[in-house]
Amino acid sequence: MPAPRLFVQHPLAAGGLAPLDDGQARYLTSVMRLQPGAEVRVFNGVDGEWSAALTPVGRKGVGLTIATQTRPQTATPDLALYFAPVKRHGADLIVEKATELGVRQLQPVITRRTVAETVRVDRLRRIAIEAAEQTERLDLPEIAAPLPLGRILDGWGGERPLVYADEAGDDPTAAWGGATGRARPIGEALKDVKAPSLALLTGPEGGFDAEERRLLRSLPFVIPVSLGPRILRAETAAIAALAVIQSSWGDW
Ligand code: SAH
Repeated sequence: MPAPRLFVQHPLAAGGLAPLDDGQARYLTSVMRLQPGAEVRVFNGVDGEWSAALTPVGRKGVGLTIATQTRPQTATPDLALYFAPVKRHGADLIVEKATELGVRQLQPVITRRTVAETVRVDRLRRIAIEAAEQTERLDLPEIAAPLPLGRILDGWGGERPLVYADEAGDDPTAAWGGATGRARPIGEALKDVKAPSLALLTGPEGGFDAEERRLLRSLPFVIPVSLGPRILRAETAAIAALAVIQSSWGDW
């Protein structure tokens, strides 16, 4: 079994001693039952991955003595996910899977139909750390505090395309899945995208409302895309679209 892998918020260099928080210390000593000297792998998002040795600190604590670098830091695709927070389990799932799929930045977006529930950014960060540890990535996705859709669109910078998962046709009264005015299939729409940085936007359980859709479709940096003829749950839409983006635009 490979050595356990932990994220630490500490500079990593040979000979350094990285402190562990209580949860990490408990995990290594009580759950994994590691003895002093046992190998642990660590990363901090900037210095690559290092092999380290479990080291007693003080009377009861443990830390990690950093030994050698096992992987240099590498750049990952500049991919962001803007997602309308869905009920708690859904948001957890989106953050976990987006982290596994290599998203660099996660931005919760408040839309008109977002079911008002507080977004617990701390909790989402913990989920992202666990997923990053598990998935062998070298960086952590950034998780920003929620912002309203209007604010995000107003402040949109430069040439970065916003791939918008749009499940409806152009006519808000038309039956879902109508053949006219549908957004282009995502695979086709992405063929033209060469930008170095990309963002994906997915809606809440109830979708975007007609006015939001009109606004989104009127903006030059927005690329409306379809994810096929079925209505996907918001979580599924985010995960499926990220997979397609990573395979055609990203690093798969
Ligand atoms: N509008 C629907 C469901 C919304 S699904 C309703 O009224 O219940 C939640 C979000 O997932 C949507 O806002 C959209 O961003 C995305 N989504 C789901 N299925 C999709 C599809 N087939 N194509 C594009 N986006 C989709």
